[in-house]
Amino acid sequence: MISALKKRFQEQTLSAVDLYIKTLNAIDNKSGLNAFIYINKNGIKEAEKCQQNILNGTSRILEGIPIAVKDNFCTRNMPTTCASKTLQNFVPTYDAAVVDCLKSAGAVIVGKTNMDEFAMGSGTVDSAFGPTKNVWCSKPNKWHIAGGSSGGSCVAVASGMCEIALGSDTGGSIRNPASYCGIVGYKPSYGLISRHGLIPLVNSMDCPGIIAKTVDDIFKILSVIVRAKAYDSTCIDVCLDTDEFYNTTLIENYRIAIPEEYNCDSLSEEVKDTWNYVASVIDNSKAIVQKVSMPHTSASVATYSVLNACEVASNMARYTGLLYGYRSSCEHETFQSLIATNRFDSLGEVVRSRILSGNYFLLKRNYEKYYEQSLKVRRLIANDFNKVWQNGYNFLVTPTTLTTAPLLKDFKSLDNRTQCATQDYCTQPANMSGCPAITIPVKLSSDQMPISIQIMAPNFSDVRLLQFANWLEAKLQFSQKQ
Ligand code: GLN
Repeated sequence: MISALKKRFQEQTLSAVDLYIKTLNAIDNKSGLNAFIYINKNGIKEAEKCQQNILNGTSRILEGIPIAVKDNFCTRNMPTTCASKTLQNFVPTYDAAVVDCLKSAGAVIVGKTNMDEFAMGSGTVDSAFGPTKNVWCSKPNKWHIAGGSSGGSCVAVASGMCEIALGSDTGGSIRNPASYCGIVGYKPSYGLISRHGLIPLVNSMDCPGIIAKTVDDIFKILSVIVRAKAYDSTCIDVCLDTDEFYNTTLIENYRIAIPEEYNCDSLSEEVKDTWNYVASVIDNSKAIVQKVSMPHTSASVATYSVLNACEVASNMARYTGLLYGYRSSCEHETFQSLIATNRFDSLGEVVRSRILSGNYFLLKRNYEKYYEQSLKVRRLIANDFNKVWQNGYNFLVTPTTLTTAPLLKDFKSLDNRTQCATQDYCTQPANMSGCPAITIPVKLSSDQMPISIQIMAPNFSDVRLLQFANWLEAKLQFSQKQ
């Protein structure tokens, strides 16, 4: 935990340099998990400066804390590939707004983590750098997926390489892998934190977010990155009431909604039992727990897949190999053939198929039928959430994923689109509504894989969400049971 590390720095039982070396060694020893695409060996120089600040008594809030960053956040003088061949040589000249905030608070960026190409996936299996392995294992030599698309960041934290990582969440990409890896993953309200420098997947839903082992660490990092407001016209300058995080007297005044549509056919018995168990834990603490209906839930993933493809078609148009992206070295007779070759040779099948579908949905003759219709359904889904909040509920509690982490071979037997429909079922609706959501681990399944729970809250009540998650985390005691 950040507070434990800071305490050791103050007591001088650990230096920022030693911690950084320890982090690099852990990354090296666990390289078989394939969590990192790039490791920042030069960070040691920054750690030395941090150590001086600690000794001089001029420590900043995250002085000397190593943080891993998903490889779709721009990092100055550090490669940023989005796990794609097309950006294999891209080195940004600026830091993403969130990275800038972390660095200004004294954090050291230890490296860039593996992900599905351009964050399109839910397994971290579709990366140009190969898949990331989950650190949890049901039987020896059984390889479970890490979840995705922020699988590298989650494995880095779950395996103890570092305490904190940044991820991005458009349909569940932080919460899905955090759930499969038995750690905490938080997607803030859309518009709370600047997306500047986060290479876009779906601009209208992308959220930078935080991965850690405890809710307390999530809160500490949020307090820093919430200052990131730059260059994002969708970002709102709200002030968070940070005192609310430590206020536990409110719990029994809360009303918790359990939406019955999340109890879908593919929900495993063990996950369902865990969900019921968490509801009973909350119920026993005198908060009110009631069932509600959110009738458009099952339309979320299909609607998302249309909106995703449309925004992808637009966002990916810049990777032609002219200004951005991979450039083939072969001679070409025509301009079209040069661009086609550049794109075919450097973008994976999932990315290419989404570009094609998006361009199809956006054709003049299809625009209204697919794109506009999807925007309308998105409103209906968001309205389901608004009704719950208007009826006086403070939180929604649902599963995060329908099962525990699948085995790699089972996951690969279905295509990306089919997988996303299952994987994103519980997480995607929050992105449609823009509300904040967090996943926290609850228990281990019969085959020793983590099972988690998701909590969602009204837009911009992020601190209250974290306060409630912090209370629930203490009740569930997942980390003490390992
Ligand atoms: N699985 C979804 C997709 O592939 C969500 C990804 C994400 O949240 N980045 O689009």
